[in-house]
Amino acid sequence: MAPSVTYSSTRGSATEASSSFREVVLAGLCKDKGLFVPDTIPTVGRGELESWRTLNYAELSTRILAKYIGPDQVPAEDLSRIITTACGNFRHPQVTPLQKVNGHYVLELFHGPTFAFKDVALQMLGGFFEYFLKQGSNGGRLAVLGATSGDTGSAAIAGLRGKEGVDCVILYPKGRVSEIQERQMTTIMDENIHCCAVEGTFDDCQDIVKGAFQDAAFRDEVKLGAVNSINWARVLAQTTYYFWSYLRVTDTNKEPGTKVSFSVPTGNFGDILAGYYCRRMGLPIGELVVATNENDILHRFFQNGDYSRRDINKTISPSMDICVSSNFERYLFHLMDDDPEKLSNLMKAFEATSRLTLSGRTLARAQEDFKSAKCDTAQTLDVIKTYKEKHGYMLCPHSAVGVSALDQLDMVKDTSVALATAHEAKFPDAVKMAVNPLPEAPPELARLWKMKTRSQVCDNDLAAVEDFMRKRIRERLERGKAVVQYGKWVLGGAFVAAVLGVVAVAVTRRKR
Ligand SMILES: *Cc1c(COP(=O)(O)O)cnc(C)c1O
Repeated sequence: MAPSVTYSSTRGSATEASSSFREVVLAGLCKDKGLFVPDTIPTVGRGELESWRTLNYAELSTRILAKYIGPDQVPAEDLSRIITTACGNFRHPQVTPLQKVNGHYVLELFHGPTFAFKDVALQMLGGFFEYFLKQGSNGGRLAVLGATSGDTGSAAIAGLRGKEGVDCVILYPKGRVSEIQERQMTTIMDENIHCCAVEGTFDDCQDIVKGAFQDAAFRDEVKLGAVNSINWARVLAQTTYYFWSYLRVTDTNKEPGTKVSFSVPTGNFGDILAGYYCRRMGLPIGELVVATNENDILHRFFQNGDYSRRDINKTISPSMDICVSSNFERYLFHLMDDDPEKLSNLMKAFEATSRLTLSGRTLARAQEDFKSAKCDTAQTLDVIKTYKEKHGYMLCPHSAVGVSALDQLDMVKDTSVALATAHEAKFPDAVKMAVNPLPEAPPELARLWKMKTRSQVCDNDLAAVEDFMRKRIRERLERGKAVVQYGKWVLGGAFVAAVLGVVAVAVTRRKR
């Protein structure tokens, strides 16, 4: 039976046409290098949206996601359980609460296990992986390999720890991630988590991951999977908080026809893309603002159609330090009227020349879809300082970029929402330049300094990393078998003891 909701590659490969949600989640990336997009975008009518006003976060999320997943993939009850479990790992009952600060709203996305917004999606992705593997998909096993410069690795580990059937290997550049971020990864002792410090840079780590995915034999052998931001389930999970924000803002602002605008600190374009899909679904969104740091490829695109690769600038908002945006292809596909051939030609030209230019009517349409602003280091620090001094509110450097964009575009008002993507205590060195002394860190982060760590150093070499993965996965499988074997002995022993006991009782009775 064909799945009720289907997905295809942005680049149009025939083998990946009409894929199911399950296939999309487990594969991550398409084999033709494209990204999975839904074949149709479901809609939400005004009446339905209003009926969602009384739902809690997990209930709301279940209604939205069901439109993209379908009961043939995950029946409603199971979907609700996966989502409720994921939301239960957040410290705040509203999961992503809104705060009113300086006349606009701040959407706090940092109440998950690792204090950054990536938790919202990765807690759910872990649940989906486990669900599909338990049903025997992929032979019941998946080995996730990811590279991180900071936030992604810890959020992936927090989402996948202890998940049945899943091994998770995270590569990070040795000595080049912040100590908090490293400890958020290496203090996790679950046996299915394997941290690997590579003697190289973040780019080296990424190259190794790419190399492993291109090694077809290895990919099949270990059943390789991906958790990076191109996984559709991550974009999908993030749609929930746009709906949630709209409903909460209009709980108080009841003027008919109110539209809510969002400013989103952007790197790989995954977070704001979720907002774009929400607007396509019919959510009354006003502006979607792409807020960038000095790595401004997206700002240049939305200002004058110039999407061209430049070298990375190291900034104080490192999770937005990118030279190209991996999710941008999905938006370009829709901008090309969902035409895979036009999109493939664009992407091929970009891959060959590192440059893509759009103009005229197409650029004008892109500028209707998104506004943009750029915020440099001095502006970022200034916003952090002002918000602390004038409003008693702490922003992390990423969140400050989003707030600055609202200010630059004259959008500070009570229908605007700035997304706060991380807790300031994750970036103490940067924040200290604006606010000194710093507020006390949350106990979950302060505790990291006293905890035991575990990690292995690995050569900057694909074969070495592949060996490391094979070895760790084999060890774990064997340990699993040993536990089963041990269990059998214990059970066997108990059985023998019970039989002897019965015989002994019988014998004693007879003697009487
Ligand atoms: C990943 C991340 C971002 C950027 O999100 P994208 O989806 O890549 O645009 C912004 N802020 C923080 C704290 C992040 O971890």
